[in-house]
Amino acid sequence: MLSFFKKRKIIIAIDGHSSCGKSTLAKDVAKSLNYIYVDSGAMYRAVTLYCIWNEVDIDNPEEILEALTKINITFQSKRGKNLCYLNEELVEDDIRSAEVSDLVSEVATISSVRAHLVAMQKEYGKSRGLVMDGRDIGTVVFPDAELKLFVTADLDIRSHRRYLELKNKGKEISFEAVTANLIKRDRIDSTRDDSPLMQAKDAIVLDNSNLSTKEQLKAVMKLYKIHT
Ligand code: C5P
Repeated sequence: MLSFFKKRKIIIAIDGHSSCGKSTLAKDVAKSLNYIYVDSGAMYRAVTLYCIWNEVDIDNPEEILEALTKINITFQSKRGKNLCYLNEELVEDDIRSAEVSDLVSEVATISSVRAHLVAMQKEYGKSRGLVMDGRDIGTVVFPDAELKLFVTADLDIRSHRRYLELKNKGKEISFEAVTANLIKRDRIDSTRDDSPLMQAKDAIVLDNSNLSTKEQLKAVMKLYKIHT
């Protein structure tokens, strides 16, 4: 009888520019709703890391196709953290390196890589109850998602957040280098031919430049209630 009152599970798609707080928001929403959270950016980063470690020529389509057959990406939730594994190896830190950040958007322009990862991402949505963040989640991966958000924030604020995040992790990087990387990734992500970053027609824009993480979670939980 109680189950009659249970809310139906939905898919929440969160897209937006680099370092706009999508992942923090997605994690917080998933935790509040007891949903699964999937960081699709981590998957593109894991493929990039594999290419770097194995010296795959990303301009050679055959080498890329072969690499994709050897890549197994999984996630495990440990002590409240969502950790990414590449072929059983924990790579959560490695995929956030400057080297990977520098190359990932180029790898993400390759259609065979996108097709491979999108197929994996769709699998996660089969049982609904999912929050996924990325660049094409509301447009390509889950065009039927019940709630779509397009998150954005001022470039300067995004750069500051990313810079502090990296500094806190002990990474040596300049503020200028962080900003340059965000600009570069946004440009490549928004102008690529296959699945460019864009706002889905039915997405709700959330500019979190002046919102705390608590405030943005509150705003999204309100939207969730309207959409279920
Ligand atoms: O989300 P994150 O910044 O970690 O993503 C890293 C990169 O992966 C993005 O800059 C983009 O090039 C690519 N990406 C993508 N499509 C997604 C998620 C990420 O192209 N759905």
